[in-house]
Amino acid sequence: MDAAAKKSKLIKGTTGDWEVVIGLEVHAQVTSEAKLFSGASTAFGGEPNSHVSLVDAAMPGMLPVINAECVRQAVRTGLGLKAQINLKSVFDRKNYFYPDLPQGYQISQYKSPIVGEGEVLVDMPDGETVRVGIERLHLEQDAGKSLHDQNPSMSLVDLNRAGVALMEIVSKPDLRSADEAKAYVAKLRAILRYLGTCDGDMEKGSLRADVNVSVRKPGEQKYNTRCEIKNLNSINFIGQAAQYEARRQIDILEDGGTIEQETRLFDPDKGETRSMRSKEEAHDYRYFPDPDLLPLELSPALVEDLRNNLPELPDEKKARFMRDLGMNEANAAVLVSDKDAAHFFEAALAKLDEKAKKMGVPRVAGEVSKWVQGELFAALNREGIEVADSPVSPEQMAILLWLMFDNEINTTMAKDIFKIIWSEGGDPRTIVEQRGLKQVTDLSAIEKIVDDILAKNPDKVADAKSNPKAIGWFVGQVIKASGGKANPQAVNDLLKKKIGI
Ligand code: MN
Repeated sequence: MDAAAKKSKLIKGTTGDWEVVIGLEVHAQVTSEAKLFSGASTAFGGEPNSHVSLVDAAMPGMLPVINAECVRQAVRTGLGLKAQINLKSVFDRKNYFYPDLPQGYQISQYKSPIVGEGEVLVDMPDGETVRVGIERLHLEQDAGKSLHDQNPSMSLVDLNRAGVALMEIVSKPDLRSADEAKAYVAKLRAILRYLGTCDGDMEKGSLRADVNVSVRKPGEQKYNTRCEIKNLNSINFIGQAAQYEARRQIDILEDGGTIEQETRLFDPDKGETRSMRSKEEAHDYRYFPDPDLLPLELSPALVEDLRNNLPELPDEKKARFMRDLGMNEANAAVLVSDKDAAHFFEAALAKLDEKAKKMGVPRVAGEVSKWVQGELFAALNREGIEVADSPVSPEQMAILLWLMFDNEINTTMAKDIFKIIWSEGGDPRTIVEQRGLKQVTDLSAIEKIVDDILAKNPDKVADAKSNPKAIGWFVGQVIKASGGKANPQAVNDLLKKKIGI
């Protein structure tokens, strides 16, 4: 990182610049049909307490049984994070009383997690790549949910979530700004979605982050006392909370105060963090290996099999788009940042294979990319819908571009047809036929228009002879006179011939 890039991340205080140090603990709900240690369903939105087995309710004498699919998902995630997979790991009891945790302890992993050190590469908008170390990933149970607003005199509990598998993914303190923290979570979420190991839906609580923040003077090596902001469920809140917390700590230190290690909560309405509990009130969890569960042992063959069947991940896809499709890094990065956008792009491009062979892959890929990032993204943003729910399919977009490559329609027409497909559906070819939108490439039909315009503007003709760029004015006039249907390239060629340049 060059000095200027480093400097731009610093926060100004009254005593000079400060560096913010951020590490994250992300809880990601494992995509699986059943819970971590029971066969109860993980489906979201069921009637309260309708997905609760005797194990989840912690009835006396019940025994947990590990769900093999959750284990495979954790290993896949570890491989996707380029991390060490530990062939032996141990489940521990983390003891604390909580009204929506009937066991009185959470089954988690403490000293021996299933996944060790790894890394995530985060592309920043300015072109910098930040390498974020992964400390560990462990499996643990989620708790249920207390409901305090359903009854005036009592709290109710919904145990549907109790026992659902979570992956806790702990990063090293490698992030140096709120923007980097946001970009890291976005990248991590993209990797999980590509892997299919977590749906990444933050609104439903499938992905939550605890953010650890401390500040120090630039050049200092040791980390100062940090505060942890719990349970943030949106990428924007992560950024706001980190920014606010860094500023709060700087103000305290510059006033001669000290930072107390504590757990804080973020209030999205006020945009501020406030104290939840201090170090003195911190729990002593009295971890010990769960006597109901044997250590988890994986065979090297299982890990290799999962490794060999991993899907292509964002970094590899980006490299391939740059290498094989001649795409620049910025374009490729945008397309791969969302799994569904990348799939849409690739599906449309595949339909244009024949065109790519004739016109060259980079040109066709570049045009598809432009349309996905332009018309498609604009329409999706406008209506607030996801790529997966796009009313225009990759196939429809491919046919539209096909017509454009064949000069049947021009760009303006293509954009109009895109809008028609978006709201009414249909085959672009039929729309072109039915609405008479076909571009006129037949020279005899436009020759008369060209002759007329040339005859009326002898001075401009003289102009174009000495300055060929001036021909653009004529092209515009001819297209206008044709009602937008004349093919610009055909008009251009014809004009050059007639003027004699
Ligand atoms: Mn945890």
